Amino acid sequence: MAAVPVLVINSGSSSLKFSLFDMTDGHERLSGFVDRLNTLNAELTWHLDGKKHTRPLPGHGHSGALQAVNDIVIQLALNEPLTGIGHRVVHGGETFTDSVAITDVTLRGIEACSNLAPLHNPANVLGIQVMQALYPSVPQVAVFDTAFHQSLDPEAFLYAVPMALYREHGVRRYGFHGTSHQYVAQQAVRQLGLDPESHAIISAHLGNGCSATAISDGFSIDTTMGMTPLEGLVMGTRSGDIDPGLHEYLSEQLGWSIADVTLMLNRDSGLRGLSELSNDMRTLTEAADRGHRQAQQAIDVFCFRLARQIGGLAASLGRLDALVFTGGIGENAANIRANVLQRLSIFGFKLDDELNQAQGDEFGRISAGQGPIAAVIPTREEWMIAQDTLRLVCDNSNQ
Ligand code: ADP
Repeated sequence: MAAVPVLVINSGSSSLKFSLFDMTDGHERLSGFVDRLNTLNAELTWHLDGKKHTRPLPGHGHSGALQAVNDIVIQLALNEPLTGIGHRVVHGGETFTDSVAITDVTLRGIEACSNLAPLHNPANVLGIQVMQALYPSVPQVAVFDTAFHQSLDPEAFLYAVPMALYREHGVRRYGFHGTSHQYVAQQAVRQLGLDPESHAIISAHLGNGCSATAISDGFSIDTTMGMTPLEGLVMGTRSGDIDPGLHEYLSEQLGWSIADVTLMLNRDSGLRGLSELSNDMRTLTEAADRGHRQAQQAIDVFCFRLARQIGGLAASLGRLDALVFTGGIGENAANIRANVLQRLSIFGFKLDDELNQAQGDEFGRISAGQGPIAAVIPTREEWMIAQDTLRLVCDNSNQ
């Protein structure tokens, strides 16, 4: 039975994920997700003590889905009440440089960041409000995707556009996946024996969304995503960097609106757009192995652009101790890691093919000998959110 139970909620625009941890030993007792919210196909899937369960939730939105999650938590008959509930919040703007306890004031602050993430923050806020109604006496905490990157200097976060757009409208680079980058960097210091006071790490979070971050002595100093998660690396369906002149060109040539272009760049681009086959790296790798040339080309564009960005981040750091791969692609795709490292020969990585195929040795290393370390470290964003939640609940109860 969970002795210090913390529930983590990731309330997205069309899906919802949850986990329940016992903070005494880090055991993830329960985890699950609800897919296709607000459609007739909405479905709750959860894993409890190693067993998978599903339950249809036709037509359910966030409120009904969280009520169903609550039913599961009640059935667990925990010995102790929930110690806290941690929420993933996508955008904290410049207001939130760390996780915060949710109060009326901080919730208004999160709502005020909605113009920066109109698809995500309102869904995050809804999740918080539903959980507040279900658990009025349990402390709740918000953990932001952007907070870790608030340490960027102006030279790294400013776009070269009129400063009034930054001052008056918050136009700047924010960066995302901060919880994941911070977690894998902390783990890298521990697992790879780096100096906690002085280290230079690049973390490459490669999932459906992809970003890479330069971390110096525990602080994010540069990252590939920008004002929105569209900037930077090639992703599953997102283009990453493009020439901003594309908008006018497509408007003139095809009569597309800005919304049309934005949708194309977010949904129909990246690996999907390049391969005309799939946004899924595993599918593309299998197709490329069977001789599908466009799948191979999509993979090569992905790796070329990733290597180029890693080179840029290394310049921001000034030196490189370790490159860490994480996320579904980073943790599982040995071919992608090998492809990228081959392009980074300038840094002198010595890839160990066997370790790479094995997804790393006991410390996650996939390189050997001299030169910077290359490693695989599985991300645990939910665990990081749970830890921050406990930290803030304890801080507040000690005040
Ligand atoms: P999300 O960003 O939605 O959390 P994930 O981190 O789960 O996504 O990453 C999904 C990506 O990881 C997909 O492109 C998927 O194909 C890829 N992936 C997962 N397992 C493998 C594998 N064994 N080989 C190659 N790619 C994989």
